Amino acid sequence: MKLKETALYSILYQKCPHCHEGELWNSGAFNLKHYADMPEKCSQCGQRFYLEPNFYSGAMYVSYGLQVALFATIYVALKVLFDPPAEVYIVAIVVASALLFTLTYRFSRAIYLNFFVSYKKPEGK
Ligand SMILES: [Zn+2]
Repeated sequence: MKLKETALYSILYQKCPHCHEGELWNSGAFNLKHYADMPEKCSQCGQRFYLEPNFYSGAMYVSYGLQVALFATIYVALKVLFDPPAEVYIVAIVVASALLFTLTYRFSRAIYLNFFVSYKKPEGK
């Protein structure tokens, strides 16, 4: 199985989970005005990205998991490298969360959508 046929590809490259061709977002992740703009459906295969009203409420739980992983990574990295006072951990975690907010938002939605939509290999490939 090639990477392109796995859910990981759709998540890493922010592609439609059904065809892995269409984009999940209308703009770049660091366009702060439009980072959350997701098209209604895939431009390539027509897969709907909003499966039901308030579909992405569940992505909050994925986002929580990503944030905990981020906190743990920063904590362990600081502890091992510098062993600084407690305030440094708090500042580093808050700054990292703020800087990476749009990425955790997008990855949590992509992961959540991949729970419900699976890849379909195009005919003849
Ligand atoms: Zn698609």
